[in-house]
Amino acid sequence: GMPAPPPPVLNPRRKTRQIKVGKVGVGSDSPISVQSMTTTKTTDINSTLQQIAELTAAGCDIVRVACPSADDAEALPAIAQKSQIPVIADIHFQPKYVFAAIDAGCAGVRVNPGNIRKFDDQVKEISKAAADAGVSIRIGVNAGSLDKRIMDKYGKATPEALVESAVWEASLFEEHGFSDFKISVKHHDPVVMVRAYELLAEAGDWPLHLGVTEAGPAFQGTIKSATAFGALLSQGIGDTIRVSLSAPPVEEIKVGNQILESLNLKPRTLEIVSCPSCGRAQVDVYELADKVTAGLEGLEVPLRVAVMGCIVNGPGEAREADLGVASGNGKGQIFVKGEVIKTVPEAKIVETLIEEAMRIAEENGDP
Ligand code: SF4
Repeated sequence: GMPAPPPPVLNPRRKTRQIKVGKVGVGSDSPISVQSMTTTKTTDINSTLQQIAELTAAGCDIVRVACPSADDAEALPAIAQKSQIPVIADIHFQPKYVFAAIDAGCAGVRVNPGNIRKFDDQVKEISKAAADAGVSIRIGVNAGSLDKRIMDKYGKATPEALVESAVWEASLFEEHGFSDFKISVKHHDPVVMVRAYELLAEAGDWPLHLGVTEAGPAFQGTIKSATAFGALLSQGIGDTIRVSLSAPPVEEIKVGNQILESLNLKPRTLEIVSCPSCGRAQVDVYELADKVTAGLEGLEVPLRVAVMGCIVNGPGEAREADLGVASGNGKGQIFVKGEVIKTVPEAKIVETLIEEAMRIAEENGDP
């Protein structure tokens, strides 16, 4: 039959230039990509590649590795060559590592102009080396390391200060004929960050990398990132994202993908529609939802599973879902596409849902 129409989005993507980070396109012609950064020592090549493999499996599109020393720079060729996804070298302070990263075969380099001394003088050579190698750049402006000149002018990292710094650095690259870059203007405060990206989006058609920097531990960081990215992505602003959490990087990827899926900016995979429970619940909804989520983790095909505590909304939600359970009297009614296919004792609900989910996933899987 006819393919289903794409699900609705809140607003179309803002039109940007298109760049490439290795095989991954970044810009409005490409899907929004999700990034993270390794936490291993870059010099420990095996551990770093292992973590990159885990990130790749979790749905990471582009990975960044820190390069604070000559030893790290020496590890880059092996990492860039063996990684399954494009590698960006993250460079602060030392421009010589920009050239090392380009020579190493990295797909991209992130520079922080604010903390590279005499950055402006280096742009010509960086542009030439990057252009010759087909490497793209991220101009990564960060509230914590703003250019001294800009800090003197604004007194603190306001949205205007972040944007002025970014626009200035972009103009330096463009003066040298180099335009294969994206820009980020990160701040830890979502309100400042959102405003900065809005201003930056008005100032030019550069592809934008979204991030709330130092967003905090998992709970706070997830919410800060989701609210800030949501405010921007809902306006069509943002071409690649990185959720920063004080938590393992795989968690950043899960959160990033979930944000995109929530806004229909990425096809939904597993979606658990579970009720919050209430005084009517006849089953431990939290436990049931957690167990079903854990049992179905990593499922790649779209599947909506309704886990409902009682029969008030159970049958209705279950009808809208691919699969569902409505509980009552120590039993669970199992729904598939809105029809009750069986009733099982409470202790069997989880395993029955997982069994049915696997069966549906197989039927709906790749043809
Ligand atoms: Fe309460 Fe039932 Fe609604 Fe869950 S489905 S919130 S238990 S009324």
